[in-house]
Amino acid sequence: MNTHVLGFPRIGAKRELKRALETYWKGRCTEAELQQTAADLRKRHWQLQKEAGLSFVSTGDFSFYDQILDMSVALGIIPARFDLPEIFDLEAYFKLARGDAQKNIPAMEMTKWFNTNYHFIVPEISSTTKPCLLSSKIIDETKEAVEFGFTPKPVLVGPITYLSLSKGIDGYDVWEKLDEVIDVYMQLIAELSKTCEWIQLDEPILCADLSSQARDKFVEIYKKLNTAAGSSKILLATYFESLDDNLDLAVNSGCGGLHIDLVRGREQLDYVVEQLPETMILSAGVVDGRNIWKTDFTKVIAFLKPLCDKLGDSRLWVGSSCSLIHCPVDLSNENDLAPEIKNWLAFAVQKCSEISQLAAEVTAVSESDVLRANKDAILSRQQSELVNDIHVQESVKNIVPEMLNRSSSYVKRKEHQSWLQLPEFPTTTIGSFPQTKDIRKNRRAKLKGEISEDEYNEFLKEEIQHVVRFQEELGLDVLVHGEPERNDMVEYFGQQLKGFCFTSNGWVQSYGSRCVKPPVIFGDVSRPEPMTVDWMSYAQLLTKKPLKGMLTGPVTILCWSFVRDDLTREEVCKQLALAIRDEVLDLEKAGINIIQIDEAALSEGMPIKHRDRDSYLKWAVEAFRLSTSVVGDSTQIHTHMCYSEFNAIIRSIAEMDADVISIESSRSRMELLDSFRDFEYPNEIGPGVWDIHSPRVPTVDEMVDLLKKACSYIPKERLWVNPDCGLKTRDWEETIASLKNMVEAAKILRSV
Ligand code: GLN
Ligand code: ZN
Repeated sequence: MNTHVLGFPRIGAKRELKRALETYWKGRCTEAELQQTAADLRKRHWQLQKEAGLSFVSTGDFSFYDQILDMSVALGIIPARFDLPEIFDLEAYFKLARGDAQKNIPAMEMTKWFNTNYHFIVPEISSTTKPCLLSSKIIDETKEAVEFGFTPKPVLVGPITYLSLSKGIDGYDVWEKLDEVIDVYMQLIAELSKTCEWIQLDEPILCADLSSQARDKFVEIYKKLNTAAGSSKILLATYFESLDDNLDLAVNSGCGGLHIDLVRGREQLDYVVEQLPETMILSAGVVDGRNIWKTDFTKVIAFLKPLCDKLGDSRLWVGSSCSLIHCPVDLSNENDLAPEIKNWLAFAVQKCSEISQLAAEVTAVSESDVLRANKDAILSRQQSELVNDIHVQESVKNIVPEMLNRSSSYVKRKEHQSWLQLPEFPTTTIGSFPQTKDIRKNRRAKLKGEISEDEYNEFLKEEIQHVVRFQEELGLDVLVHGEPERNDMVEYFGQQLKGFCFTSNGWVQSYGSRCVKPPVIFGDVSRPEPMTVDWMSYAQLLTKKPLKGMLTGPVTILCWSFVRDDLTREEVCKQLALAIRDEVLDLEKAGINIIQIDEAALSEGMPIKHRDRDSYLKWAVEAFRLSTSVVGDSTQIHTHMCYSEFNAIIRSIAEMDADVISIESSRSRMELLDSFRDFEYPNEIGPGVWDIHSPRVPTVDEMVDLLKKACSYIPKERLWVNPDCGLKTRDWEETIASLKNMVEAAKILRSV
């Protein structure tokens, strides 16, 4: 039985690639040194796959920035604003991803890879784009694997997914380039077929809502690609969901194999098997590529065995559900996890072993030690006191609909909140102030034990004083404490909640050299003690102006964590909401009368398929309401959201029923407020007027213009004035200048 993974993380167990890239970008190492690190990583990762007993090693999954960008380069699809050098080298490549500062050419756009936390570089196609085989990177890397004695299976993003995710410039229809793009794919595949038996083409778009253009062309295109492959075979890889309505395309593709995701699309197995032609092998994606839990062998074997009997072991492969790029590299580097919890986990390296072990178990006659150990681990997790908290489970059962509603409507609440005495166009910020070197230095010193808890707290208090004074001097209306105690808006809360744990090296690539280390939600979540009340009360004592308490919302905590897989996400989110609700109530009791609950990630959690979106939005909105509705009418609830497709979710945003929402909008010049034309947002809103992603200080006039524009969408009584997002990545100089201008802009608006 063949075994494989759909891709292996490239960053390295110790983030070697990140370090090498950043050193190179700073000009502190040569390209040869960077290339050497890359080659070492590739070789090590192939070695790991081979040692685990997998039949193939994946090639082409290595990238210096992003594999979709690599595909664009391979296809010669480079935006016209970059001039193509004679030889397309690494310098030219990085300019696409990071922009060309010297010539002031902006980088290509980045967006999320389906509903993961991985960001890819969006291909740009215009009428003048001339596809051609521009880079032989994947061919070279595949040859490299062969030279080392590995059996490679190259991985390419398939053309239908590639074009579906591309952006047509100036309204250009990207599908017009289809034939030319396919010609290049054919060249590439023909070349690869010389060295490999199997070529994997990733078409996750088949598990999403496929456009009719893509549907119509699919079978015809794959016929061409299969011809190009000659005697090699194409493995059509689908993942993140079930194939559903697109199954016919997959089974009629003429490919040698079909990979399906049996973690996120378990229900498709029967109908896929029923329709799978005899000429196709089935690759069963049974080991979760997007989470960190050990696979439940017993559960998987229960369906793999009958499947193997039906298809025969030559037609069944075992694999990861999707690429392992979405999980951390190696669990064996985790020395600080509780041993009990560590025994429940598997990272990429461990998942490779799981895959070959599972293949062995399917055909084994008796129960092996491996299977027994797996059963023990699964049982230990199910029964652990660390996981199960009867009080939390009771509280969730006791949630009643009234808990999801504020006592009055917004209009009534507005009256009760008049005591806050806010002016027209009230000014505020999103929460964080610059995270200075000094803050980071002190945080590190505290972690290392170089300064005491008390010393650290004193330092934070001074920071808060400074931030509060500054806002008072500027004349902002609703103040914040600046979040100096928070390193990360999810981690900070996770560290204080029961049911969470943290890894030391559980890094996952987010984009380019940037990695994140998501917290792990392993058990029932509760809040043993207040998390922010002391800081907020301290800050409120420093000023007569209202101080806004800052919390991270349940959906955002969920989206940015590795979540337990033994409960639905909806259930876990309810537990998180109850924990935040406890905090909200305590803040109100402590005299904090404006509370902001950030839901920066609300639209990230959106399911891939349209048909599932309403039910997600329903429980996500309910979780927010559950966490906020506990307060009285005179307490003002704010929320904040980073950029998202507001059109699609505007109704749900309104249903959150926050008194005030702040959103990112300055970069789009308030265009995003278009969604408010057809739908009147009923409560207050602060469309950001300062693009905090750039170091540029916006002028007063500019912000006045933006606000005037906003007035044409939203009645001025309901408008707030604030930046796009938190200021933690900005420095003080820009912050002072920009906020000054912002306050000035608000004054001008009040006077017209
Ligand atoms: N309150 C957070 C901050 O100001 C919000 C960050 C975010 O939306 N990503 O940093
Ligand atoms: Zn934001």
